[in-house]
Amino acid sequence: MAKQKNVYFFGGGKAEGDAKMKEVLGGKGANLAEMTNLGIPVPPGFTISTGVCAAYYENKNKYPAGIKEEVEAGLKKLEQVMKKKLGDPADPLLVSVRSGAAVSMPGMMDTILNLGMNDQAVNGLAKKTGNPRFAWDAYRRFIQMYGDVVMGVDHDKFEEAISSIKKAKQVELDTQLTAADLEHLVTEYKKIVRQSTGKDFPQVPRDQLWGAINAVFGSWMNERAIKYRQLNDIRGLKGTAVNVQSMVFGNFGDDSGTGVCFSRDPSTGVNEFYGEYLMNAQGEDVVAGIRTPEKIATLAKRNPVIYKQLVGIKNKLEKHFRDMQDLEFTVQQGKLFLLQTRNGKRAGTAAVKCAVDMVAEGLIDKKTAIMRVTPGHLDQLLHPMIDPAAAKQAVSITKGLNASPGAASGKIVFSAKDAEAWQAKGEKVLLVRKDTSPEDIGGMVASEGILTSTGGMTSHAAVVARGMGTPCVAGAKGVLVQGDIVIVGGKTFREGDWLTIDGSTGDVYEGRLPLVTPNISKDMNTFLKWCDEVRAQTVRGRVKDFQVWTNADQPEDAKRAFEFGAQGVGLCRTEHMFFDKAKLIHFRAMIVADTEDERKKRLKEILPLQQKDFFGIFKAMEGRPVVIRLLDPPLHEFVPHTRPEVEELASYLGVSADSLQPKIDRLIEANPMLGHRGCRLAVTYPEIYDMQVEAIAHAAVECIKENIPVHPEIMIPIVVTARELKLLRPNAEKILEKVFGDAKVKVPVKIGTMIEVPRAAIRSAHIARYADFFSFGTNDLTQMTFAFSRDDVASFLPVYLEKGVLDVDPFKTIDEDGVGGLMRVGITMGRAVKPDLKIGICGEHGGDPATIDFCYRAGLSYVSCSPFRVPLARLAGAQAVINNSGKNVKGGETAKAGKPASAKVKGSKKPVRGEKKMAEGTVKKTAAKKPAAKKPAAKKTAAKKPAAKKTAAKKPAAKKTAAKKPAAKKTAAKKPAAKKTVKKTAL
Ligand code: PEP
Ligand code: MG
Repeated sequence: MAKQKNVYFFGGGKAEGDAKMKEVLGGKGANLAEMTNLGIPVPPGFTISTGVCAAYYENKNKYPAGIKEEVEAGLKKLEQVMKKKLGDPADPLLVSVRSGAAVSMPGMMDTILNLGMNDQAVNGLAKKTGNPRFAWDAYRRFIQMYGDVVMGVDHDKFEEAISSIKKAKQVELDTQLTAADLEHLVTEYKKIVRQSTGKDFPQVPRDQLWGAINAVFGSWMNERAIKYRQLNDIRGLKGTAVNVQSMVFGNFGDDSGTGVCFSRDPSTGVNEFYGEYLMNAQGEDVVAGIRTPEKIATLAKRNPVIYKQLVGIKNKLEKHFRDMQDLEFTVQQGKLFLLQTRNGKRAGTAAVKCAVDMVAEGLIDKKTAIMRVTPGHLDQLLHPMIDPAAAKQAVSITKGLNASPGAASGKIVFSAKDAEAWQAKGEKVLLVRKDTSPEDIGGMVASEGILTSTGGMTSHAAVVARGMGTPCVAGAKGVLVQGDIVIVGGKTFREGDWLTIDGSTGDVYEGRLPLVTPNISKDMNTFLKWCDEVRAQTVRGRVKDFQVWTNADQPEDAKRAFEFGAQGVGLCRTEHMFFDKAKLIHFRAMIVADTEDERKKRLKEILPLQQKDFFGIFKAMEGRPVVIRLLDPPLHEFVPHTRPEVEELASYLGVSADSLQPKIDRLIEANPMLGHRGCRLAVTYPEIYDMQVEAIAHAAVECIKENIPVHPEIMIPIVVTARELKLLRPNAEKILEKVFGDAKVKVPVKIGTMIEVPRAAIRSAHIARYADFFSFGTNDLTQMTFAFSRDDVASFLPVYLEKGVLDVDPFKTIDEDGVGGLMRVGITMGRAVKPDLKIGICGEHGGDPATIDFCYRAGLSYVSCSPFRVPLARLAGAQAVINNSGKNVKGGETAKAGKPASAKVKGSKKPVRGEKKMAEGTVKKTAAKKPAAKKPAAKKTAAKKPAAKKTAAKKPAAKKTAAKKPAAKKTAAKKPAAKKTVKKTAL
């Protein structure tokens, strides 16, 4: 077997790797190789592959055999190209040692600069460069970095030492320290290292090198890197690569400098060169936000030759990679070097603008553009901004850099820990700091917004906030954090005081300003239309298009969703219409009614209120389908809980609170989510659904009269058996017929059902006979499949996730193996009976990108989600289409299974007759009065149903499935079995 290559050289105009090798070389290593091959000036070096990192961890922190020799060979080659030797006391080669995984994780892992320095090399460098100050500064930086990162010395101890020298010398800036001061500082630093670790600072460069390599590989598993990967859902990587590269120095004097720049503005996406630099500085100074850098445009005046060269390189790289580039450069004594290029992280606005512009410029096609924008980017664009009316009145008290767009208000806290703790208590917090560092990541996530007093657009706070989509104002000089107070624009604020920031303008305001959600921009509109086109063109078996609908309970929600591009309302939860206090009293009066007459009286009061809302929603949707779900109130959500509420209802009803209380108590259920809810309520009190259907019909008539196109659909919830539908559907049909007949209008109304109980999924072949459509209520389906209460799951779910019992929260992303398996059964069996059955999802999962991908593969016709998630669902749906193109997605597995089975249904009456014999097809005859008489029939049916038995017999397999995830997939994929079940049980 050929020996595995672990070390890849780049330099002298040639590299052993290239940009395609990100998995092996990490993003940084692969692009350093690519730039070298493109003839761009890159300091030479070598990359130790990510495979070594994987082997290191697999082997209990031991390297694979031969790696030392390969590194040694790489180093020799580097020494030859550079014509310098590591540790040469007269003219030392100095190197940087940096991390770099296949996916960029900025600032999360370790870096060491100036490696190779020791007590001799410093003198050699001083002599060779004729610049002792530079040499001692490089040495003290190296000890500080290596001491902190590799040897674990407390960073603050070095900071204290430098501060005390500056104080003694009465200077403010590091750059004001002389060579002698820095030499003294080196002595102090070495003392600190010895005191802290009991060891001398290592003087042998090869020992230093392996110490640094170990540290970088070790940093793959540090706490913040692990957290970053979790937060960004980065999985399946081998590890980090290690890049050992010869140093170039931006702190050689005024003809040297360093900077970070983007080929386009990463906040707005505008196509102009964007970035910052600092003269006489090392790269860490720019990123750390210690000094505030200058705008890249000023380099054009200061050094036109370098500026022109840099512009040429950024143009070349953007064209080459066909994406916005984020570049790091250093100028050493008038010579330009590129240290890194990568696809730039960008804010949502910039992501959309770059995608749209690059299509117009012919750089990329529409599909590439769609894949470049993440659902998270769009989510950011829907972030709140300050209400324009309030913004006009408001006076900004200070201004910083508009580092990450969107506005945020919060109570101020000064530490990341406090931010996390306050947020856990339900507070909205604004993190105010001098600057941030990677340790602060948890607090940054917990904050509504971030305000820093130092640092530029590429400081840690700015980059991380942009990536997270959290509003951020950085480098606000008018902000002075002093212990537990902060002075902003001359005013003093304490912990817990409210501030508002506008990350789009950089303004900071006193107090809590009202925030509003912005509209969709022109670019976003163009972009989302492309997404709609991709979805509209998709065909999976008999299912055409893959639509995005919305869950909207009020006309305003529907209006917003319509503007956001919703193609229909997939769920209108009619009980939510009563959350409004003025309506709630009517609803409460209805649920405590003692008699049918009393209930009907109360329902009459409710009817016009519902009708008005239905009309509003129909109007907002301009003729697109609107699925109205009939009442599904877990009653505990609506009964009055407190004495004043009971008294209020009593006075409305004209009874005493004491006489009302027992009626209320009777409504309390031990397990309300499994209680008297959904269509059960209509089985016992048909007049409730009758009223709602009447309200829907009247609202539709109103629309017709006003020439408003209308497309209502009625949905019946919590169905467990086809008999419920068989019982309830005719009632609804009768009322529709009557209202439309009286008004002399024709409105086709589909009547469908939710599949949100496991039994309903399993019995969907029967249920489909009485339903014009299905919609998966995956909130309940998840709750009932897992037997995890959706209201109480927080007490144990975090531990399940932490211990890896579950990979993801099943209430956020669909559990594809279990809940998804039931959905596939429901789809297959439903479409076996009705091949063109429209099937959607309306649980909260409908707005989750991973779930949307599953829904596409499973063959759903649409997903329905909350209005604010509609834009990102439009994108995620298009991405699902693109991601799965070329795969055999044909209406889920239903297409194959569905066709022959449906042919049977059509071709033969037998199934229908068979179905009638089924217990679930015998509602009328069964009639509650005669249950005993029907039992034999049911038994007979059972006896005749070998397949039904088979299904039952399959249950142990289901258990197995739960234990063995891969097996579950198999189960889901095995549709022929489902088909069998359909044929034999249903028909
Ligand atoms: C569901 O269960 O997924 C659903 C949409 O209904 P609700 O959340 O109202 O129970
Ligand atoms: Mg439900």
